[in-house]
Amino acid sequence: MVLASSNPGKLRELQALLAPKGWQVEPQSRFGLVTPPEDGSSFVENALIKARYALAATGLPCIADDSGLAVDALEGRPGIHSARFAGEGCSDDDNNRRLLEALRDVAEDRRGARYHCALVLVRPDDPEPVVCEANWEGRIALMPRGSGGFGYDPLFIVAGDTRTAAEMPSAEKNRVSHRARAFEALAARMPTAGISE
Ligand code: IMP
Repeated sequence: MVLASSNPGKLRELQALLAPKGWQVEPQSRFGLVTPPEDGSSFVENALIKARYALAATGLPCIADDSGLAVDALEGRPGIHSARFAGEGCSDDDNNRRLLEALRDVAEDRRGARYHCALVLVRPDDPEPVVCEANWEGRIALMPRGSGGFGYDPLFIVAGDTRTAAEMPSAEKNRVSHRARAFEALAARMPTAGISE
């Protein structure tokens, strides 16, 4: 099957989860594909756009994910715009600065947030996608901490923990994150390769 993403970390994670079931996961770059414009209005829609584009081009089962950060005090923003909260072409640092600025007057006990991941699988000759979603709860710190992870991790204090996601070893993050749990949910629903459901 094809992973409709160019992120090598996501590919490794998914390969490890699906190899025991006999599936071989290839990145979309192997088929010369790039990611199409993600102009849906939800995480699931954007994941479907990517997965259906790869399915149309390859004729193989395709998986795609879309994720982002939803902040309570910002009514769910930046949401599907997480990658470009501070503007087109901005860096993770720019996004983190913009987030701190947006929450400047918000007290510590009102800074609840969650990462959300939507993961979809589309298959040839099957109009029904398999959709798995997961959240990772936390709150937004007053200052960035830690050097691991990416994106908003230095500002994301994990629920039930004092550390930010950027202070967690990557192996630990990759067991408990929104993406890890959505990937696991999908792996649990996947049939063994070659055997139909
Ligand atoms: P993507 O859909 O996984 O590429 O994520 C879109 C954007 O959401 C990223 O550019 C980040 O800003 C944010 N994001 C998603 N997952 C994470 C995470 O695990 N840590 C930090 N930021 C994340």
